[in-house]
Amino acid sequence: MGKTLKTTCKMCRREGVSLCGREKCAAKRRPFPPGVHGPAQSMRKPRMSSYGLQLREKQKAKRLYNVMERQFRKYFEEASTQKGNTATRLVQLLELRLDNAAYRLGFAKTRRQARQMTGHGFFTVNGKSVNIPSYRLRVGDVIAFKDSKKDKGLMQGMNERLAKSEPPKWLSLDAGPMSGKVSGMPEGEDLRSVFDPTMIVEFYSR
Ligand code: ZN
Repeated sequence: MGKTLKTTCKMCRREGVSLCGREKCAAKRRPFPPGVHGPAQSMRKPRMSSYGLQLREKQKAKRLYNVMERQFRKYFEEASTQKGNTATRLVQLLELRLDNAAYRLGFAKTRRQARQMTGHGFFTVNGKSVNIPSYRLRVGDVIAFKDSKKDKGLMQGMNERLAKSEPPKWLSLDAGPMSGKVSGMPEGEDLRSVFDPTMIVEFYSR
């Protein structure tokens, strides 16, 4: 699967938002940077250059989706050559990754787990086995669990989780057969995130 970026809760706390996706993320309990001993102290944020701020947004996005710099840059380059708003397109490309969609549907607890499950061949797309976490989904694609994986330990509590799962509008979950369909492109609300994609575009356009 190659090298991946490890998102620790230290990073979550530094950014003041949960990037790791863990239910018990440390940033939820202590939303101030590591080494700072209370919220009051962290209110005095150091002034950052626009370069610093843009870089920060890029790092947040990379950590959220567990994407290395080279691949992330490729997403930006692809987004910038396509029609429409580059920032919107960048988020769409990230969202349309198979591992992200599996996480969004509730098939995994975190994006990291979704990536592992994808790598271990848990999922099919349109009935065919796909084990590439970055696999680009298209509108109409159906993601499902491979039958042979349905008895694995990771599936414990899956039904309960899927019953509570609230996927974004662009994904429709069919909890019974444990499958999900890409019913449209991620748009509007679906693109809201903890990072600002326009600042990432500015970063790469410097
Ligand atoms: Zn965390």
